[in-house]
Amino acid sequence: MKVLVVNCGSSSLKYQLLNMENDTLMAKGLAERIGIEGSRLKHEVPGKDEVVIEKELPDHKAAFKLLSDILVDKERGVIDDMSEIAAVGHRVVHGGEKFSGSVRINDEVMKTLYDCADLAPLHNPPNIMGIEACRQLMPDVPMVGVFDTAFHQTLPDYAYIYPLPYEYYEKYGIRKYGFHGTSHKYVSLRAAQLLEKPYESLKIITCHLGNGASITAVDRGKSVETTMGFTPLEGLAMGTRCGSIDAAIVAFLMEKENMTAEQVNDILNKRSGVLGISGVSSDFRDLEQAATEGNKRAQMAINVFAYRVKSYIGSYSAVMNGVDAIVFTAGLGENSVSMREKICEGLDYLGVEIDREANNVRGREKIISKAGSKTQVLVVPTNEELMIAKETVDIIG
Ligand code: AMP
Repeated sequence: MKVLVVNCGSSSLKYQLLNMENDTLMAKGLAERIGIEGSRLKHEVPGKDEVVIEKELPDHKAAFKLLSDILVDKERGVIDDMSEIAAVGHRVVHGGEKFSGSVRINDEVMKTLYDCADLAPLHNPPNIMGIEACRQLMPDVPMVGVFDTAFHQTLPDYAYIYPLPYEYYEKYGIRKYGFHGTSHKYVSLRAAQLLEKPYESLKIITCHLGNGASITAVDRGKSVETTMGFTPLEGLAMGTRCGSIDAAIVAFLMEKENMTAEQVNDILNKRSGVLGISGVSSDFRDLEQAATEGNKRAQMAINVFAYRVKSYIGSYSAVMNGVDAIVFTAGLGENSVSMREKICEGLDYLGVEIDREANNVRGREKIISKAGSKTQVLVVPTNEELMIAKETVDIIG
């Protein structure tokens, strides 16, 4: 069974074609600058050179058309006919409270998706646009929506209700939703497999540390707490996002700097985080380099980031009354040996003992704690596309 996994942004379309007989990648790529001058499609088949096609792509429908042309292209394609694609899995950022799992897309689901668009105004409208375009081009192919929020729908109410007037939850759905759910689910499942223990028996803390970053407490297969909230701004310090701060700072800044809500929002989302602290970069490779060269604010940004991760690990161990495994994933979690070591320093009270040699790993699955460590620590590269494809197969049956 071949499954196409699609992730649409406002001007982009990311895709992977997977063969689910053996979970292998057949092709992947990205259409960029859709609706903007200079649009192009980058297409890659494992073992072959990347192809870049410069072509005007006025909308997502045009991008899907180009994608279908390249997939069946005699030279650069990987299938003979689009009918070989059994299903399409769409990544959708926000499913609100309506979707606690993946769903087969039909007209009714589309209507509900439009209703959720308000909750994620930056992400959901392009996701919906992509699904609509794909449905027009492949009307007979079953499609599944996989939500970033769905895995966290198991949070108990005392974890997702904010201490605000309850009417705002009722009126606007203001509550914690959590994000990166597909990644947290994938890496926690993989961790259980690597540890050769039943998923339903483990208390796992998953640390998705990339440009966007979040931590989840997975208690015997269920997400019970997570750092991101109503939007992906809450929780950890991130590349450019501030994470949790005193909410009063918002009104204070608006008044002092004479800013609009939009301007403050822009600062908190795009000019804060480790970029804001360091003034150097949002990329940890640049920060590590600058810190090595003696840049104090770059070092401070790294310290703030690691400190928050460590404090959430402590908090989530309390939430679950213990922890069996801590998992690191995403760009920084998979690749930064020094950040993992820094986070795990002083977690001996939890029974965490890092094996320094084993920790010297980048971008591949590995148990990095010592053999006798009470709490196991693992690196598990995330694979959201494979998870979306698996969910799609499960739903289509
Ligand atoms: P992601 O959002 O998962 O793609 O992660 C991107 C982030 O991972 C980048 O902004 C970097 O900060 C970080 N990253 C990627 N590779 C490395 C590396 N080798 N060392 C340190 N940080 C890295």
